[in-house]
Amino acid sequence: MNEYPYPFSPDVMPAWHVMVFVIGACIGSFLNVCIWRIPRDESIVTAPSHCPKCGHDIAWYENIPLLSWIVLNGKCSKCKSPITFRYFCVELLTAVLFYILFYKVTFDHQPLSILIVYFGVTMLIVTTIFIDIEHFLIPDKTTYPVILLGVAVSLVFPEIWGVSTTRLQSFIFSAAGLLIGGGIMALMAVFGKMLFKVEALGWGDVKYIAAVGACLGLKACFFSVLFGSLTGAVAGVGIMLLKHSNLKTAIPFGPFLAAGTFIWMFYGERLTVLYLQLFRH
Ligand SMILES: [Zn+2]
Repeated sequence: MNEYPYPFSPDVMPAWHVMVFVIGACIGSFLNVCIWRIPRDESIVTAPSHCPKCGHDIAWYENIPLLSWIVLNGKCSKCKSPITFRYFCVELLTAVLFYILFYKVTFDHQPLSILIVYFGVTMLIVTTIFIDIEHFLIPDKTTYPVILLGVAVSLVFPEIWGVSTTRLQSFIFSAAGLLIGGGIMALMAVFGKMLFKVEALGWGDVKYIAAVGACLGLKACFFSVLFGSLTGAVAGVGIMLLKHSNLKTAIPFGPFLAAGTFIWMFYGERLTVLYLQLFRH
């Protein structure tokens, strides 16, 4: 945490910042494909992107993240029908979140390998926000790969859990997050349904928390659920008051969990230190 630990000079750091932002925008472009196709059970690898209105195949120069949307003024180049602003939002959001995490990791002199799980979880966060809002669903195709990623990266790069972590400890941290975090969430889903007779928590939420646990550990699960429940409750009451609707108006839980997870990645260790300091005096 003290010495400068990276194999490149601090002078080239601005170039890395730009590159991470560009990579984030490109990943965002891929996530746009996932957000549209996964809930519709379409393949994310075959079939090139095309305009949903006129079927015009989108050329590579019409598919440059962020820039193409601006240059085309948010319209299909052939039939001029509007391209949803969501595409631009997803690319910008992913780029900004990647940038913030890269900044945080290099500022704190954390190992760069932790970015693999941070970026993987960020991809899950972005797809969860946009798919869950529209479809009330967190698909297995978004959570399972991130669960595998968390376990695999823990085995290959134990240092993501702390400089002197052994491979076995690292595996246990990841497995504990996956099984205990996911397990508690599963119990909450089952008993919540028995007690309140409504499905407040879906299995998608359970698998989302399992993925967070596998990548970031048990504390990240607790923080995500606590933050998600509090902000979700506030938002739920707000919507009830605004729309004069009743309690049954469901709002998706995923986006609130996702916000909690991102705050944890950015601020987690500091929050733990603050919390412990409260009890020290
Ligand atoms: Zn078109």
